[in-house]
Amino acid sequence: MRKFCALCGRETDILIEGLCPDCYRKTHPLARVKRDYVGIVRCPSCGAVLYKGRWVRDYGVIEKLVLESLQYLGKVSSSRIEGLELKPGFTTAVVKVRGTVHELISEYEEEVLVRVRYTEELCPRCRDLIIERERAIVQIRSAVPMSDQVRKLIMDIIKRETVKDTERSGFLKVEELREGFDVKLSDQGLARAIAYKIHRTIPSRVLESQSVVRGRGDKVITKLTISVTVVPIGRGSVVMYANRPHLVLGYSQGNFRMLDLSSNNVLNVKINDLIRNGITVPEYEASCVEAGGARALEIVINDKRYIVNNAC
Ligand SMILES: [Zn+2]
Ligand SMILES: [Zn+2]
Repeated sequence: MRKFCALCGRETDILIEGLCPDCYRKTHPLARVKRDYVGIVRCPSCGAVLYKGRWVRDYGVIEKLVLESLQYLGKVSSSRIEGLELKPGFTTAVVKVRGTVHELISEYEEEVLVRVRYTEELCPRCRDLIIERERAIVQIRSAVPMSDQVRKLIMDIIKRETVKDTERSGFLKVEELREGFDVKLSDQGLARAIAYKIHRTIPSRVLESQSVVRGRGDKVITKLTISVTVVPIGRGSVVMYANRPHLVLGYSQGNFRMLDLSSNNVLNVKINDLIRNGITVPEYEASCVEAGGARALEIVINDKRYIVNNAC
């Protein structure tokens, strides 16, 4: 009796549930994917992979995770990942599954695509190492937006202090931010050297704090945070302070001498008060003019005109 496939109509020697082997294979996959996607979390520093709540330092677990998402519907003799590119986000693992779905069909290979969601995250061990390495941070901020000139000055100080002390400089990372700099380093002494060199160069306030990162007793690990707030203004600067325009006459020992332009009063303002209350730099024009036979400084802010005698 001649046999025909119910699906493709071809004549066939072997008929399985009314189908030729090819059509039977097509309608009976070797494996199916149980999940929408497989999540893979890997430490970018040491390569460990999160597996069932534990970090495993074995690349093989990635294959394990992918293959465990498969449910075999036939008799499978082997399966392996053929291609998987690990880049953050969604990607596809190509898995080759070898086996058969019926004893009358000899073994063959089938391709299964598994969706993978790949993310990178520091494992606790690497996070600890980084904490141990970063024993100090110098946060440099400014009371008024930092000019390129001030940025360069600070950068030069950091470089010079580090070069001076290469022996102990160890780990050092400078992050340039919109609001200033974060200097992360392993040497607390060098952190202080940088902070106080900036302090001596630019009017500024320095605050230090130590915090315990981990451990107790002799094995305690502390982190030093030094916050340096610079006030990069000096003699001749025009600033708005307490909503009034001021001409800066000078700076020494943590005090700014300022002339209140609207009242002509000279006042001393502590740098701490100035930082706390805030200052801004207005748009202004300054020029030397003749006033009553003497030279005077004329400052124009928002069409308002202020005359400072004997200042030109
Ligand atoms: Zn067929
Ligand atoms: Zn790690």
